[in-house]
Amino acid sequence: MRLAVAIASATLLTGLLPVAPGAAAAAEAGEAGTNTAVRAGMAAAPGVGRPGAGDAYFPGHGNGGYDVRHYQVTAAYQPAEKRLVGRTRLRAVASQRLRRFNLDLVLAASSVRVGGRPARFSQRGRELVVTPRRAIRKGDRFVVSVAYAGRPASISHRGARPFVTTRAGAIVVGQPEAAPWWFASNDHPSDKATYDIRLRVPRGREAISVGRLAGRKRVGDLVQWRWVMRRPMATYLAFAAWGDFRVVRGRAGGVRYLYAYDRALSAGVRRRAVRSLRRTPEVTRFLARHLGPYPYGDHGGVVTKADLGFALETQARPVYDAAFFRRGAGLQPGQNTSVVAHEVAHQWFGDSVSLRRWRDIWLNEGLATYLEWMWDESQGLGSVRSEFDYWYDHGGRAFWRLPVGNPGRDRMFDNRVYVRGAMTIHALRREIGDAAFFALLRRWVGERRDGHGTTTQFERLAEDVSGRQLDGFFDAWLFRRSRPLL
Ligand SMILES: [Zn+2]
Repeated sequence: MRLAVAIASATLLTGLLPVAPGAAAAAEAGEAGTNTAVRAGMAAAPGVGRPGAGDAYFPGHGNGGYDVRHYQVTAAYQPAEKRLVGRTRLRAVASQRLRRFNLDLVLAASSVRVGGRPARFSQRGRELVVTPRRAIRKGDRFVVSVAYAGRPASISHRGARPFVTTRAGAIVVGQPEAAPWWFASNDHPSDKATYDIRLRVPRGREAISVGRLAGRKRVGDLVQWRWVMRRPMATYLAFAAWGDFRVVRGRAGGVRYLYAYDRALSAGVRRRAVRSLRRTPEVTRFLARHLGPYPYGDHGGVVTKADLGFALETQARPVYDAAFFRRGAGLQPGQNTSVVAHEVAHQWFGDSVSLRRWRDIWLNEGLATYLEWMWDESQGLGSVRSEFDYWYDHGGRAFWRLPVGNPGRDRMFDNRVYVRGAMTIHALRREIGDAAFFALLRRWVGERRDGHGTTTQFERLAEDVSGRQLDGFFDAWLFRRSRPLL
């Protein structure tokens, strides 16, 4: 994710107090109600899947007891009524015996089936509690089908409101959560799955999502756009946009490109957006030289008029708030390729190699920001060294006070996580040398492709590649509340 308004001045940081992660997590668990088992650190009752994936930052996100392998999502959106009618059919494997389990969904369910048979269910907050007619045995594969409907833009859950209406439709996108506003899911990045997404819109409109456009067909009064993502994807990396888009397709380096530009963009914004996104293949080639092959067969971007305030690395097709392409945004006149480089870098760091727990967010943002700096340098827009030196010399006390390796739920997207994350990466490069550093990046994304990685695993690999003991290094850069010595 890249925030549209980055905090660029160190003085703005003064007075920001880092929230202790424990406090944030406890606050959420305390409100969660259904999460008493997680809060107490106890196992749930026998046969009952936990109502959370065990993430300290978001105890209510995701669920325990099963692993989703594939989602088939059908979501029809009627802009006139602002109403979504959906159905999620998912295939999962039980990791324990399940006489009851949860899914994440904020829309009202009208029917739930497990293995084709009606199941009992209840809903509270973002939790859908499902009781199948017969308990599922550990290791069994099972299919759940959920039908639901509602007006998702009017639903907020603890401040999150990731479904946004636009002039001609709507977009649902967000980090760390957006999925429960349009499909029933195990909404945590620790459970990745493949996707078949069928979005329905009134004729004459477009419906855009992740991956490959696998076809369009009439369904009653609506047109269905089918999108297929065959490589494992975290739930927050899926998005859906129904609306009025100009779609541009192409091919480069064996990859299919599809861009979608909101037709409501002003001429100037559209010009700068097209000029920037058109360079996506060039940015991707630059990054692939350092990281190894681009992880997906599809690529592109979506520029929305919706006032999101961010760009997000949605898988194989990032979403950009039009604000990134306003006059004067970015470092170059007439275009902003820095944000493109950031979101494309995430395709390796965050999308292909995903977080297991949100506290490791610096791994996503630090690496994406660092590759963004490298791209800028390659374009003659400053240098990695000068970025590092500027912040090292002028960061100030508040800048160093946040332990970016565990910033707390409310500081996940704090600018310090990005900048100090990237500085940690640069300091590591200086510490172990270019050869070991680039070998580390390539091995990290190569060995963990389509999987996960934690801070500890990254540290181990850095030690392995460099032959150095780096405990003290990472502790100083990620977990202390003061400026590390060089
Ligand atoms: Zn980011």
